[in-house]
Amino acid sequence: MRIEALTVIPEVFDPYLDASIMGRARRAGVFEFVAHDLRKWTHDRHHTVDDAPFGGGQGMLMKPAPVFEAVDDLSSDGPRPHVVFFSPCGRPYDQRCAERLSREERLLLVCGRYEGMDERVYTLADDVFSLGDYVLTGGELAALAVVDSVVRLLPGALGDEMSAVDESFSPQTGLLEYAQYTRPASYRGMDVPDVLLSGDHARVDRWRRLSSVERTARWRPDLIDEGALDEEELAIVRSVGYEASRGE
Ligand code: SAH
Repeated sequence: MRIEALTVIPEVFDPYLDASIMGRARRAGVFEFVAHDLRKWTHDRHHTVDDAPFGGGQGMLMKPAPVFEAVDDLSSDGPRPHVVFFSPCGRPYDQRCAERLSREERLLLVCGRYEGMDERVYTLADDVFSLGDYVLTGGELAALAVVDSVVRLLPGALGDEMSAVDESFSPQTGLLEYAQYTRPASYRGMDVPDVLLSGDHARVDRWRRLSSVERTARWRPDLIDEGALDEEELAIVRSVGYEASRGE
């Protein structure tokens, strides 16, 4: 997959994308990444990308022309990219969005800065995503979150030791991941559940399923689909709900 970012701070991407799992996947050719400096598409001596908002108000906005020219230029070179913008006003980005983007051949991630962008640029967008209900100083962290979450879904990105299949939000369960433990079996008085040491795979699988249900009911009750749960699982949801309401 080819992934490009359009940004006024292109230097922030490589340190993250050359390290650890992303770095290995990049070197193995699982994805290519280029950060384009938006200032390349300015025509004045100062490479101006921002201007004051019409109607007054604080701060500066990104001008439309450099963004339009850059997206036009980049789109005419190779396959048409799927164009993503970032804004706190965008659609909340989630695992389903990552899976959809992972099927694209080419992504162009347009990063805002300052007080945001001239509204007209969003006519170029195939998607506008928000990372969450808080305000960042720029779209670069959002773009890195998208690159990371998409790349780890691509074949060959994760080594054999990791899997993107039975994780939180995976379409198979739609639940949070179950609790996991590693050595030692007892630490500071806290013991790993016996069943995980039993070697009985069927019991381990059942314990993990119930752990997923319990954690989801506790932390993300909005993800629970009661129709997909059996009686024992529903009982867990109800007991967690009872505890949670008592705790308020
Ligand atoms: N004035 C805007 C915020 C601009 S923040 C508002 O109140 O809605 C500047 C840039 O940071 C945005 O253009 C966007 O690219 C990025 N950004 C900030 N918060 C973000 C978030 N929660 N999700 C995704 N991008 C965000």
